Amino acid sequence: MKSFLLGTGNAHKAEEFKELFQDALKINAAPRTLEIDETGKTFIENALIKARAYYETYKVPALADDSGLVIEEMPDILGVQSARFAPELPEYADKCLKLIELVNNPQKERKAYFVCVLCFYLSPDEIYFFEGRLQGMIGAELKGANGFGYDPIFIPERKENDGRSLAELPEWKNEFSHRAKAAQAASEFFKESVDKTRNKT
Ligand code: IMP
Repeated sequence: MKSFLLGTGNAHKAEEFKELFQDALKINAAPRTLEIDETGKTFIENALIKARAYYETYKVPALADDSGLVIEEMPDILGVQSARFAPELPEYADKCLKLIELVNNPQKERKAYFVCVLCFYLSPDEIYFFEGRLQGMIGAELKGANGFGYDPIFIPERKENDGRSLAELPEWKNEFSHRAKAAQAASEFFKESVDKTRNKT
């Protein structure tokens, strides 16, 4: 099984990744979280900056992600800057309330989506990207105690259509989130590349 050093300081993401890759890839925590300036303008650029920094520091294949929430009618306020939205409010509950206020006054379309881009940096000549998205809308209040970040105000599109937030759906999130979709694509890819190598020998 291929193994990768996971480049993130976010313990919630690390947990989700370990769960997502458990049968496909071995994910090792980095000995130390690196301080990295996320200066990219796209999720792809930022995922690359992070994965390359871990590869160059530890000299082993590295995996990093960049993710965020995009509100379609206000694409500039979150996106690649999702982690840095409203820095005067350190708690995510307060950031979520502020977002609800922005969507309500004046009233806007509530359509939004989460994006996750994974970068697998095996060497400077071998770099792979995978993207996953989750469509939904911004809810009217905070709901649920699971997950992290903007989960309590994100209502994912589901056939049940019961208005539950991502923070109320931990098992569903593990299977269908932006991070899960990107991880599933990556797992397929690495499984196929191992199978191809086996078939050659
Ligand atoms: P970064 O990928 O570390 O730059 O941070 C992305 C930011 O987007 C996180 O700090 C959260 O605010 C938000 N985010 C990304 N994925 C999720 C998720 O699955 N749930 C809730 N918020 C998320």
